[in-house]
Order: sequence, then structure tokens, then C-alpha cells
Amino acid sequence: MDSAEYERKIASRFAAFDQDGNGSIDREDFSKAAAAVLAEFSVAARSDKGQALYGGAEAFWQGMAGIADVDGDQRVSRQEFVTGAAKRLRDDPERFGEIARPFLHAVVAVADEDGQGVTPAAAARVLRALGVAEEASEQAARALDADGDGRISEQEVLTAFAAYCVTPEQPH
Ligand code: CA
Ligand code: CA
Repeated sequence: MDSAEYERKIASRFAAFDQDGNGSIDREDFSKAAAAVLAEFSVAARSDKGQALYGGAEAFWQGMAGIADVDGDQRVSRQEFVTGAAKRLRDDPERFGEIARPFLHAVVAVADEDGQGVTPAAAARVLRALGVAEEASEQAARALDADGDGRISEQEVLTAFAAYCVTPEQPH
């Protein structure tokens, strides 16, 4: 993959992080994502799971800002995301997954409604809550259950997130 292709791919992730679509990534986008997931599963913000999710969202934002908010204005512009995130992914691809780990852990706890693991259907609900189109959500959720046992482990989520950040979209 050449450098230009790599940066285009990173740029394509920007819209997913910019949850409110206002053209920059900031703390609000992460708290909005947390609120959307909690609402989807009817989990109260003040519950332990709700607080863990907001805490994970804040940690994710802080990690993102540490990597990409070069001018320190508490917003990650598209250009900052492309240059900052792309550079960090080249230097240390594990790092991007690590900053998301507490958030993803908390999402798994919310979406695992029966304590037996996240089902593909629940994973699809998470993705739809985060603004992913219905068909894409269902395809991604099926792919998440890599071993086909009907449950998605936290490790499968972490692996998929890292892959999402570093591999190109499937061609349509
Ligand atoms: Ca935004
Ligand atoms: Ca900035």
C-alpha cells in the first residue's frame, strides 16, 4: 500500500469518528457515541456500565487528542486526523487499538445482555447506533464472529477494530 492510499484510507475513517458530522472530532463525538450505545440497550448513564462507557469514551478521546490534536485546540481536524493518525499508525499500529480498549471493553459489557458474550445481532445494533448503515452493520457483525460460534469475544472486537483502522474497505 503506498502512502497516498494509506492516508486516503485513514481519512475515510474520519467520518465514522465525527459522530455529529460537524467537521471535527472532539469530546462531544465520543460522549455522543457512548450515549447512543446506552440508549440502544436501555442502559442508564448513571449505572456502572454507563459510567464505564462514558469513562472509556473519555479515555478514547484523550488518546485520540494526544495522538492527533497537534495544535491543542481540543478538536481533531480532518487534516490533523489524516496526518497525526496516519503517522502514528505507521510508527506504532498497536497503539491505536490500545487507546480504544477501555471504550470497547465497556461497549462489550453493555452489548453482552445475557453474560454469554455479544451476539452478532447485538453487535449490529451497536454499529447502527453509531451511525453505520443497516446492511453494512449486519455484514460487519457477521464478520466479527470470526469462528462462527454465534458469540463475539472482546478479543474479536479488539482485533476487528485494529483491522478496521489499518486495512482498506472491502470493494463493493
Ligand atoms: Ca464532531
Ligand atoms: Ca486541533
